[in-house]
Amino acid sequence: MGNYFENVVVPDASAEEAPRLAAHGLDWLVAEGIVHREAVAGCVFGAPAGHLPGPQWAPAVTDPRIEPLGGVAVHAGPWVSHAIPVESRYVICPHCAAPTRSATDDGTPVKEVWDLFGPAFGVWEKTGAAMVPCGACGRTGDVAAWRWSDDDLVLAHLGFAFWDWPDLAPEFVAEFGKVLGGGRLIRMGGKL
Ligand SMILES: [Zn+2]
Repeated sequence: MGNYFENVVVPDASAEEAPRLAAHGLDWLVAEGIVHREAVAGCVFGAPAGHLPGPQWAPAVTDPRIEPLGGVAVHAGPWVSHAIPVESRYVICPHCAAPTRSATDDGTPVKEVWDLFGPAFGVWEKTGAAMVPCGACGRTGDVAAWRWSDDDLVLAHLGFAFWDWPDLAPEFVAEFGKVLGGGRLIRMGGKL
C-alpha cells in the first residue's frame, strides 16, 4: 500500500502573484466540477486540508475507470515539491551553471550535498529565503534558483498536489496550466 501523488507545479509564479493564481486555479477546478470547494482535513499529505473529487473529476484523468481516493492540496507559498524517489543526479549552480553531484549513478544520495540543501529547504519553506554556496565558483546562490536535473525537485510558490488520483490527463493539465497563468509547468509524482 502507500499513497500516490502527482504534483502540478508552476515554478515561475512569484511569491506576490501565487495566492491570486492559486485562488483562481481552485475557482476553475470547482467550476469544472473537478473538486469540491470545501477543504477537508485528512485527504492529503503535506497540507492541513484538501479538496475532494467533485462530480466531474473524470475528464481530469487518463483512466476514469479508476476512482480518485484522495484530495487535491493547494500550495500557495514556499513549497519544496519533489518526486519520490528523487531521481536527480545533480544540481546546477544558478551563477556558474556547474553541476554538483547530488546522487551517484546508482542513485545513492551524496551526503554532503543533502546536508547542505536539506536544512536550506527547511529554512526556505519557513521564510522564503535561504542561500547555499557553490563548491565550483564559491558564490552563494538563492536555494530556489538551483536547478535539479530531471526537474525532480523544485522550489516554487505555486502548485497543486493530487493525492491518490489516477494519472492526470495531458489535456486537463494543459488547460489548467493556462488558468494558472500560462507559464512553465512541472509535473512530478511518486509514492509516499
Ligand atoms: Zn557556481
